[in-house]
Amino acid sequence: MLPRGFTNNIRDGDAVIKINDCGAITLVEDNIKQVRERHEEEIEDFQSNCSHEKISDWIEYHWAPGHFSHYVKICERCGKTIEEEGIFKGIFK
Ligand SMILES: [Zn+2]
Repeated sequence: MLPRGFTNNIRDGDAVIKINDCGAITLVEDNIKQVRERHEEEIEDFQSNCSHEKISDWIEYHWAPGHFSHYVKICERCGKTIEEEGIFKGIFK
């Protein structure tokens, strides 16, 4: 418990939080790991709620620029991979 009137930024794991004199906690600093986790969760929710009505033709999947690995069909709305073909399917994401 912080003494009344005490305000400070403290590090809780990877986040920096601020506790004001009323005891309210505010997130004052993010790091890239937390931003990525939130973004990945948002994408997962978006893809799991998509009905994948418009699917692409087969397109080349490159695990890095210029490094083809296999073919995929993706949902044109949410970007989720719907189908994969090729010996490296499922290996590169
Ligand atoms: Zn979709």
